[in-house]
Amino acid sequence: MEVTLLGTGDTTGTPTVGCDCDTCERARDPDAELREQLRERGVDPTDGVERSRFSVHLRNEETGEVLLIDASPDFRTQFRREDVALPDAAVITHVHFDHLDGLGNAYRLLDHLPVHAADETDAQTGESVAETVRDQYDYLDTVSVHPKSPYEPFSAAGFEVTLVPVEHPPLVCYGLRVEEPATGAVLSISGDTCYEVPDRSREVLTGADLALVEGIVHPGACEFHPEGGAHHDDEGVPRTFGTKHMTLPGARDFADDVAADDYRIMHTAHYVPPERAFADDIAVDGERFSL
Ligand SMILES: [Zn+2]
Ligand SMILES: [Zn+2]
Ligand SMILES: [Zn+2]
Repeated sequence: MEVTLLGTGDTTGTPTVGCDCDTCERARDPDAELREQLRERGVDPTDGVERSRFSVHLRNEETGEVLLIDASPDFRTQFRREDVALPDAAVITHVHFDHLDGLGNAYRLLDHLPVHAADETDAQTGESVAETVRDQYDYLDTVSVHPKSPYEPFSAAGFEVTLVPVEHPPLVCYGLRVEEPATGAVLSISGDTCYEVPDRSREVLTGADLALVEGIVHPGACEFHPEGGAHHDDEGVPRTFGTKHMTLPGARDFADDVAADDYRIMHTAHYVPPERAFADDIAVDGERFSL
C-alpha cells in the first residue's frame, strides 16, 4: 500500500489565509533547520510547509487502484502538487466542509466515482453521512453513493475497508481501518474525534502498520476553549480539546493505545506554537509511506 498524505491540516489549513502568526510565517518561509527536516521527511521545502485540508491517497500495489479518504476542498492543488493518480473510489468520514467539499471535482474529471459512507442516521442532521453526500451531490452523475454499516468490512479499490464510529459531537464521524489483502498491510485513520473513542472502534483500529491520528492543538490551547479540555491523563494533561478533537498529547496516547508500528498526527491547526508545530510526528503534506 502506498500512502500519500495529500492534506494534513485542519479546516483553515496552515498557513492560514490572512494570518501572520509565527507558526504561519514559519510555514511560509521555513528556516534552514526546518528545511532540512522537511528534506529528511521526503518533502520538497521550496514552497514552505503546507497543511492543506484533510485528504489521504492510497494506492493499491496489487491492483493499481486508488482509494481517496475524504475529498478535500484543496483536491485540485493536492493532485497537481503530488502528481498522483486520480481516485477509483472514495470514502467520506463525515460531512464537515474540510472533508467533503472537494467531491465536486469529480465533475468532468472522472468517469465514475463510487463514494462509500456510513449508513447510520445522525440525530443532528436526521440523515446518515451517505444520505447527506447523496443529497449534496445528486446533481453529479459521476458520483454514486454506497451506504455502509459500521464494523462491517467492505471492498473498495481492492482494499478491505471497515468504518468505525468515533466521537466528534454534534455530528457522527467515522475512523477506518484499510487493509490491502495481497500484502496484509494495514492503515488506520482515527477520523476527526476526541480521545474517548468507543472500545469496539479502538479494537478495529489496533495493530496497524501506520496510524493517522487527529490532534488539533497543544494542551495549553484548552484554556481558550469555552468547553476547556477533557479526558485528562495521570498528570492532568487534557487529551481532548473542547469536545470534538484531540490535543497533541491525546493523539500520541491514542497512537500508543492502538499499538501502531508508526503514526503521524494529522489535522493540526496553526495555533500550535512555531517551535512545536513542526515536530517530526506531526504530518505535513506530501509525506509518503510504503506499507
Ligand atoms: Zn496562523
Ligand atoms: Zn470535522
Ligand atoms: Zn476536519
